Amino acid sequence: MHIIIHAIINFIFGLILNLNRLEIFALVIGGIIIDIDHIVYMVSRKIYTPKEMLKFHIQESKIMRPHFYFMHFIEPILLLMIIFYFVNILMFYFFLGFLFHWIFDAISYIYFYKSSWPWIKYYSLTKLLINYKKLS
Ligand SMILES: [Zn+2]
Repeated sequence: MHIIIHAIINFIFGLILNLNRLEIFALVIGGIIIDIDHIVYMVSRKIYTPKEMLKFHIQESKIMRPHFYFMHFIEPILLLMIIFYFVNILMFYFFLGFLFHWIFDAISYIYFYKSSWPWIKYYSLTKLLINYKKLS
């Protein structure tokens, strides 16, 4: 899903939840920052220039091919949300932004694949570890 759409969705949720401006800002920024792992992934595949990155991104999102995006695992997102709920409420909203992003990514994958299996191993550490155990 496009990053701008994620930002808009998080902004709307911020309004619905009646958050203050700073909390909405944290929610929107969280929904954007999570996708930095896409750039990390591309660099790991030796894709360096913005032009090559854009080309790769367009080509991969057309076919909705998931990759190893380390910030998209649901378990650490939930854990960080729980921790920051008690420590720093702005950081809680930042990671809530991650969660909303994750949910809407998941919805678009389920809509595209009509199933969860082709992509869930990239979005859940638990599923990744289960698969890893099966392979070894
Ligand atoms: Zn994403």
